Amino acid sequence: MPNKNREIVYVEIPSKALRIHHAACSNGHSLICPDHLINGYASVCVKVRYQDNEGLIYLDPIYGSFCNVTEIQVPDRGLVEFFCPSCGISLTAKQQLCTECGAPMFELALPRGGTVAGCLRNGCHFHLLKLADGVKLLDSLADEPTWDSFL
Ligand SMILES: [Zn+2]
Ligand SMILES: [Zn+2]
Repeated sequence: MPNKNREIVYVEIPSKALRIHHAACSNGHSLICPDHLINGYASVCVKVRYQDNEGLIYLDPIYGSFCNVTEIQVPDRGLVEFFCPSCGISLTAKQQLCTECGAPMFELALPRGGTVAGCLRNGCHFHLLKLADGVKLLDSLADEPTWDSFL
């Protein structure tokens, strides 16, 4: 969300260069599923609901890759909801809508206050990654001589 005390810095990275290692619900339950691999990596497992159907969905842990595996049938453009498999809390982002299609988004907690979010409309691949704590990130970048050299 826009915050007067924050600036948004966009960093372009090569596609599929990042992998989610630690995702959790807002109650701190890990969503990482080492028993269900996608492309050789532990997937991110959440409960998915589409109308009256519920099941599990295994999300591709590679950021920007969508080799997801779903237990239930969801039609193209169908709108789903995600929940924590451990405690059942909704994973719908409270303050974030998809900027491409306007649908609600899910949001998963990352270590150090970051979040990863994605559109809940099947087939819409809009996604967002927010790394925090921004100040610490800046500090760590400042340890390298690189940050200034990019400006
Ligand atoms: Zn939970
Ligand atoms: Zn969307």
